[in-house]
Amino acid sequence: MQCLRLKTRWKFSNPSSKQPCLPLPIRRALQQPRCPGSRKFSSRRAEDPDNQPERPDESFEQLIARFGHPGKWPKDQIFKASKNETLTNELERYYSRVQIFPILPLPFRGPMPRLLITYKEPMSKETIGRWRRAIWLYRIAWLVGIGYLINTYILSDSTNSKGHAIFDAPRFVPFSIVAREDVSPTSFILTLRPSHGVKPGVDPYADEWDKGTWSVEFKQPQLQIARSYTPLPPNSDVQDPGDLRFLIRKERGGEVSNYLARLPVGGKVEIRGPHPEIDLPRDITDVVFLAGGTGIAPAMQVAYTLLDKRTGDERPRIHIVWANRKREDCVGGVDSSSAGSLTEDPLQSTGTIVRELQMMQNSHPEHLSVDYLVDEEGTFLDQTKISALTTGISQSSASTGSKLIFVSGPEGFINVLAGPKKWEDGEEKQGEVGGVIGRMGVTDWKVWKL
Ligand SMILES: Cc1cc2nc3c(=O)[nH]c(=O)nc-3n(C[C@H](O)[C@H](O)[C@H](O)COP(=O)(O)OP(=O)(O)OC[C@H]3O[C@@H](n4cnc5c(N)ncnc54)[C@H](O)[C@@H]3O)c2cc1C
Repeated sequence: MQCLRLKTRWKFSNPSSKQPCLPLPIRRALQQPRCPGSRKFSSRRAEDPDNQPERPDESFEQLIARFGHPGKWPKDQIFKASKNETLTNELERYYSRVQIFPILPLPFRGPMPRLLITYKEPMSKETIGRWRRAIWLYRIAWLVGIGYLINTYILSDSTNSKGHAIFDAPRFVPFSIVAREDVSPTSFILTLRPSHGVKPGVDPYADEWDKGTWSVEFKQPQLQIARSYTPLPPNSDVQDPGDLRFLIRKERGGEVSNYLARLPVGGKVEIRGPHPEIDLPRDITDVVFLAGGTGIAPAMQVAYTLLDKRTGDERPRIHIVWANRKREDCVGGVDSSSAGSLTEDPLQSTGTIVRELQMMQNSHPEHLSVDYLVDEEGTFLDQTKISALTTGISQSSASTGSKLIFVSGPEGFINVLAGPKKWEDGEEKQGEVGGVIGRMGVTDWKVWKL
């Protein structure tokens, strides 16, 4: 005879008991150590075959027929049944199925039957203790894992505004290339999307755009080297929230720029950051931005932060001078001072960056002007040009706020216009203001080399 014991797993009280719970001394006198219906009393009762009504041997099918699904079998009952193959197999299959669930932590428990079937030799106390410890360790591991996931994917969303949900400095994080556009024979725009996705309705780069100019580093995995690139301001017409766009120039013989130029749409890149370049002060009244080549990206960042992210009197006047070697880098660009500068020439296509600059001008006609200089057309950025801009503004402006000259572009461009940056204590610092601007001796303008 095989004794099948069915006992409650979670509920140990005996609800059918009508006996009152007597005070402890009286119970002791009556040799009744526990209240009827209390946890241990009920549990002991359930394990005591003598307290259970006798039933004839029944097969598993008969028990199912009488009580339905084993999960609904009555509590505190003992069933006796002959040991036979079918019954044992059926119970084993059922038992192994339900055992998957009890080891999961409570909140994730599946539809578990309330009855535990014990039909094998009872385990020793030590084995039971070991199993219980193992099950608790397993549950704790689950809870720790779930806590980690909640912290990473839910709580970290609250830090989304700081960009932490996307970047994980100093580690590189994966992005996918979702678009690539050639904007000239030597430059292209890459649009990247974070591989881990972005919480809807949140701008993960909000803090960076509030402060001012910033960059990230791209990794070249074969050579294990990294180079900095500057995100273009967001353009909802061509990119999703969380996407970043970069204007990249293929340097002849350049390792990272040519590696990026070879990557196809759908390819992966790893980037690290964000690296803030300058925290723009709140009291800026005038900006002259001298940009060479891809140095236009920080110029557009400054215009976006100062004009789109700030309001009212906090928005300064910004004049960008964009110098390029060839017209193909700034097709369609017309100086703001020229008539019709804000409309497109129907006979000439307009470059993507020029078009975006024009859109910014259209949004802020009072605050933003752009001039285009092209080496091959004989228009250069020299002292006369810079002087005309700064002197005109200094004379017309009576305000006491900050006036900033930014110089951004290739190393040679910065060196000629404002003198070289300086390496100090392993860091690149601004260095003295030299070059053309240094010789001009401007005193009421602060100079920033980017
Ligand atoms: C803050 C910041 C932001 C930037 N943002 C942008 C951006 O938005 N877009 C952009 O295009 N660039 C940007 N740059 C520049 C960019 O980081 C890279 O410097 C540029 O792309 C060149 O990198 P590379 O690896 O392709 O070239 P490198 O391999 O570094 O080579 C650079 C040049 O040096 C020459 N050279 C290399 N090795 C030697 C050698 N042994 N002897 C002689 N010559 C050599 C190469 O021919 C090449 O012309 C930024 C730089 C900084 C610091």
